[in-house]
Amino acid sequence: MIFKFGKKGKKASQGQGDDVEVELIRFQTEFDVKANEKLVRVAFEPLKELLTDGLTRRAETIRVDPKGDRATIGFLVDGIPVPAGRIPRQRAHAMTQMTKVLAGMDAAERTQPQAGAVNASLSDDEYELQVRTQPVAGGLERLTVHFRNLDERLDKPEDIGMTVEMKTTIRELNGNSQGVFLVCGPSRSGVTTTLYASVRGLDAYLRDIQTICFTEDRELINITKFEANAEDDFEETLRRCVRVEPDVILLDPVLDADVAKVLLGFQDSVAFMTEIAAADAAAGLLKWSEWIGDPSLAAESLNGAISQKLIRKLCNSCKEAYKPNPKLMQKIGLDPEEIPVLYRKARPPEEVTERGEEIEPCLPCNDTGYLGRVAVFELIEVNEEIRQLIASGADAGQLKSKARESEMMTLQKDAMRHVADGTTSLEELQRAFKS
Ligand SMILES: [Zn+2]
Repeated sequence: MIFKFGKKGKKASQGQGDDVEVELIRFQTEFDVKANEKLVRVAFEPLKELLTDGLTRRAETIRVDPKGDRATIGFLVDGIPVPAGRIPRQRAHAMTQMTKVLAGMDAAERTQPQAGAVNASLSDDEYELQVRTQPVAGGLERLTVHFRNLDERLDKPEDIGMTVEMKTTIRELNGNSQGVFLVCGPSRSGVTTTLYASVRGLDAYLRDIQTICFTEDRELINITKFEANAEDDFEETLRRCVRVEPDVILLDPVLDADVAKVLLGFQDSVAFMTEIAAADAAAGLLKWSEWIGDPSLAAESLNGAISQKLIRKLCNSCKEAYKPNPKLMQKIGLDPEEIPVLYRKARPPEEVTERGEEIEPCLPCNDTGYLGRVAVFELIEVNEEIRQLIASGADAGQLKSKARESEMMTLQKDAMRHVADGTTSLEELQRAFKS
């Protein structure tokens, strides 16, 4: 028996006695209900309620972590861990198994890490749930569900907070139809979004941009997907694509030295834009150099590198303005004449005011003071000076200080722009840059 689920669930409102219809998440998948009858009975509704609760509270990730006879549930909201209670271990186990069935994973296999995915919707939003399980002590598994909003379009440079200047610089750096531009960052840090935004900042009407890429389901307007022959290897595919004489080729993340060396063979005829897993822009440039194995050759091939970091935005409903100390303003490079006030998270309100009125909690941000995130960027342009540094085997610190000296965009500098306009607080920068 195969069922497709899509009914509204019921959830009792607390303490009021009457049932309230609450819309629950709906999975867009089919599975064998009969073979999983017991799981469905005990875990299907609780799982839907947990995932709905997570989405309603804007969690990007939910983790169910068994410990002893209980399991702790944790949400990640705007990158911050938020505890979300504990449930009996048995129920957590059943919910984990149910999730594995839904995400097309092997429910019987519990000794190996697994990954899968299932699409789902809540209200009008569509999500991809990226599911991972990891075996832990006692034959149990830790469950991680990461939500990707499929409706969110964050592809244009301005959508993700890139300035016009930065967009122009990226366009110029890749304007010669030669060399390599690296988008750097740890995975899941928004690297792919930055890569697409960088590519979309190029003028696709004037430049021929091809992609040999697994482009997820992102829309790439005016960018041609190169049709590869199944029998060709990467190098042959690249050779055929270069023969079409595009200006720019967008590639999947470069994972090793072998691929880097293949690209080097073509970098005279086309500009490449790709991702590399590295802590930041300087580390990305150095990793490339290490992979190429010859710092001078590597330096010749590079156009630039960008990396980004997400910082939380203050909640507009409850943030408070304050007059900052002029000495502090001087220290952080802001002009107190020009920027008379900064903003911060509102102080925790007294439960009851002096006049005896209760203070309403802030609903939009759940009293956390922050709502949503914005990306800040650093961009190292490989000019003659940076090129010489890379060729001479300089370290990341030397590259960074040269970039700062040349007034290139750094994460701190870009972040300060968001402090100055009240988007975020100095406290948030301290937190974000400490880790
Ligand atoms: Zn608020």
